[in-house]
Amino acid sequence: MTFVQIVVLAGGVGGARFLSGVRATAPDARITAVVNTGDDVTMHGLRICPDLDTVMYTLGGGIDPERGWGRMGESWTVKEELAAYGAEPTWFGLGDRDLATHLVRTRMLDAGYPLSQVTAALAERWKPGVELLPMSDQRVETHVVVTEPGSGRQQAIHFQEWWVRHRAALDASAFVQVGADSASPAPGVAEAFAAADAVLLAPSNPVVSIGTILGVPGLREALLATPGRVVGVSPIVSGEVVRGMADRCLPVVGVEVSAEGVGRHYGARSAGGLLDGWLVAPGDGADVPGVDVREVPLLMSSPAATAALARAALDAADV
Ligand code: GDP
Ligand code: CA
Repeated sequence: MTFVQIVVLAGGVGGARFLSGVRATAPDARITAVVNTGDDVTMHGLRICPDLDTVMYTLGGGIDPERGWGRMGESWTVKEELAAYGAEPTWFGLGDRDLATHLVRTRMLDAGYPLSQVTAALAERWKPGVELLPMSDQRVETHVVVTEPGSGRQQAIHFQEWWVRHRAALDASAFVQVGADSASPAPGVAEAFAAADAVLLAPSNPVVSIGTILGVPGLREALLATPGRVVGVSPIVSGEVVRGMADRCLPVVGVEVSAEGVGRHYGARSAGGLLDGWLVAPGDGADVPGVDVREVPLLMSSPAATAALARAALDAADV
């Protein structure tokens, strides 16, 4: 028996929601999620993988649907106790339930298991219904080059500090992937591309989610070797981000905040870029030379709308 094989490149919230739609519309397919780990960070001695956890909790039914990240029914006792000690950082939300995930992960990493195996072990509990792969087993952490408001001095801070603590308000001049030089795609990533009938770029942040995944040496080449069609979904609707702060990231890499801007940034596969197909919102009418651009509703406002969006992406990939 042959399965339809689908690979999805995903960040956190946008990636997780899109994956739930792919799973709903293609229940018999073998789905592999290649997830951004550039947001990963060590805090209070614990290894935290925000995007992997968002995808795992969303697909496993444990996500807080209001926040879009973290656990449903969460409490914050440990966070309050840490703050009472003045233990920095106090600006990062670590819920009590969520902490168990980080404890298990950190213990396994310390025992020598690679992140891909740790992720598979955590997923045994959550049964996400897709194969969950980190983009790499090596640490690749996004840092942001910012200018200190007072001194004018340039410094690089961890992405989480820029994103969560400063709400992306500090002007950034560059994103740097610390550790990328010695990283490679996680086991299974290249194999998944090689077997894929379709590769989908979720409507995730094009710079610090999708861009970071594509920055792992060798990963972009492995993706482009896929026999499947490559279809992306715009995270920008009518010139605005649907959620989050991608509009703070795109200008840093010289990309216009529009569906056309992001589509051209990814580029046509026939011209050395990534895309065979590009989904934009009705009325956004992007001109991306060499790419099959389709206008479909892009808002993942309900499970049905999300599944319909995933179906449109698979249609554009001829799957
Ligand atoms: P993060 O890691 O949690 O920041 O999440 P992602 O990188 O996966 O996704 C963030 C992007 O998802 C943002 O740029 C949003 O514009 C986009 N996004 C969120 N919800 C929707 C939606 O319903 N439709 C579309 N098209 N994009 C969305
Ligand atoms: Ca993220």
